[in-house]
Amino acid sequence: MEDYPIINKKAAKQIIGSKTIRKEAKRRYHKGSRKVLKNYLGKLIALETEELFGEETDQVMSCREPSTLTGSELLCLIKESGLTGMSGNGYPVHKKLEAFIKTKSKNRILIVNGVECEPGLLHDEWILKNRWSKIRTGIAYMQQVLAFDKIILASKTEKEYHTDPVIYEQVPARYPMGEEHFLIKQILGVSLEKGEYPVDKGILVMNLQTVYQICKIINGCYDGGRFVTLASIQQGKGRVAYVKSTDSIERILNKAMGIPKATEVYAGGGIMNAHKLQKEEQFEAKIMFAAYAKKPEITAENPCKHCGKCVRKCPQGIDVRKIVSIRQKDSNADISIYQPEQCIHCGTCTYFCRASINIGELIS
Ligand code: SF4
Ligand code: SF4
Repeated sequence: MEDYPIINKKAAKQIIGSKTIRKEAKRRYHKGSRKVLKNYLGKLIALETEELFGEETDQVMSCREPSTLTGSELLCLIKESGLTGMSGNGYPVHKKLEAFIKTKSKNRILIVNGVECEPGLLHDEWILKNRWSKIRTGIAYMQQVLAFDKIILASKTEKEYHTDPVIYEQVPARYPMGEEHFLIKQILGVSLEKGEYPVDKGILVMNLQTVYQICKIINGCYDGGRFVTLASIQQGKGRVAYVKSTDSIERILNKAMGIPKATEVYAGGGIMNAHKLQKEEQFEAKIMFAAYAKKPEITAENPCKHCGKCVRKCPQGIDVRKIVSIRQKDSNADISIYQPEQCIHCGTCTYFCRASINIGELIS
């Protein structure tokens, strides 16, 4: 099942209150850099309510002392829980930690990734605001076992979450800044090749929610659930929900957002990477977002206007225009000289395309 942007710039203008949403996001997140503004793809939906939809079993948690935790116990508990990365990659967290433990790098750095610059996601910022004390405890558990030299919490929000020994780093709200390689380059100035793993360089990047769930696991109140974003795109509003992997996406969305008339349901990693909901689809690990939406008319066949916008907006510097031109003539043409393997499938080119071309379809 192929995921694609379910919004483009043209359609984003039709969102109710879109100007206000984008203005507010710019005010809150950008740091005055023209470069950031030039490439800015800010929030497209606003948080409708702070109230969490769904129930989470963590409220009676009494925190265990970090000094009582051993490395093997941490790994064992995480392995038994079956916890996978909360960024949607489905990778087992205990394997990532095991790889980090084996690193020979002398400088060991933890980056807690709370950036969430995806224009449709709201839950990381919500977690940071509403579950900060448990994230802090989760960091303390990891520090006890993994003895980092430096711990950085990265987020795009203006509120600073400094707590010794955590250094708070506000990063530009430029999508896709939350992607691991971009984040490491932004914060540490370290470039990693595609296929090169951060742990090999002594860098452990953990999603904010993963750290939160580690805290719950250690305190015996992990329930297998997680936070996701639910939205009604045309209404420009969304909220945060707590779901289990066996929950029906459609049922949860109906209950949390009401049932709008004549719109379709989409689900995926975010507004830039989603697919039309399949029958009885559930919240499996890669689903972080579900929404009512009216997909814009994007097709691979629309004639290119040769404006070059896609090239200017591509964070990987790929010559997207050339690829579009070649593949529209021959869908099987060899495009290897343009290094399509560098594509991180962020959907930015499709979002900005002035001809509403589904560029992702031509690159894949
Ligand atoms: S070519 Fe790939 S990396 Fe570049 S903007 Fe398009 S989807 Fe993103
Ligand atoms: S943004 Fe769209 S119309 Fe413009 S050059 Fe790229 S593919 Fe062509």
